[in-house]
Amino acid sequence: MNGEALFFDTHAHLDCPPLVQRLAGELAAARAAGVGRFLVPGVAPQGWQRLLETVDSVPDAWAAPGIHPLAAQDWNSSTVAALAALLDHPRVVAVGEIGLDALLDGPSPAIQEVALRGQLRLAREAGLPVLIHCRRAQGRLLDILREERAGERGGILHAFSGSIETARQAMDLGFAIGFGGTLTYPNARRAPEVLKALPAAWVVLETDAPDIAPHPHRGEDNRPAWLALIAAEVARIRNWSLEETARITTENACRVLKITPP
Ligand SMILES: [Zn+2]
Repeated sequence: MNGEALFFDTHAHLDCPPLVQRLAGELAAARAAGVGRFLVPGVAPQGWQRLLETVDSVPDAWAAPGIHPLAAQDWNSSTVAALAALLDHPRVVAVGEIGLDALLDGPSPAIQEVALRGQLRLAREAGLPVLIHCRRAQGRLLDILREERAGERGGILHAFSGSIETARQAMDLGFAIGFGGTLTYPNARRAPEVLKALPAAWVVLETDAPDIAPHPHRGEDNRPAWLALIAAEVARIRNWSLEETARITTENACRVLKITPP
């Protein structure tokens, strides 16, 4: 890959340990592997400052500040105001990662839903797409996305683990589907099926580094450079060249996030 068609990692926690402590080396390794654009999601309000400092220090990195379902109890009048104030920042292109997680031993579904709805409204008022995290709550999520008119700006469904039917409904609402490390596991079934069935315009790539390392690094701290392993699997399953995979998925990410394409 010679620089003209760089891969876009639409979900990289570059601001979190251990990546943040060795960021220069991680970025150099990523660029050498053809990975040159990054969307960095928020997790909790206490991390938003570092999130913005991180994306400000990295060329071609953008932020999606927000409150993850695991921190949903932090959604209150003062964090609403703090998040609203961040949305004008030039590197902020989405609100995330927000959603529902039925597997968490954390905030109740009701608390998660309040934080999700509040952030969907804030994103809509700001005219921004959203970055969604969802585990085992796809039906409820789609209902909420419709009720909150999230289709007006769309976004990305990150670490997608749902059915083809769910993916199609999300796509109809303007949501691209994020494919990551689980696609590369030798026993992966659903993700490859969804990838095969999805129109090319709705496929985006992500690592979720430092989580969900791809095969053969499963269990290690994930790295943005390993997006190339995920891209190679997408290319194989879709029968695209690596160049096509980079061009298609980067264009998709830029369109959904309203970033001027390379
Ligand atoms: Zn994440």
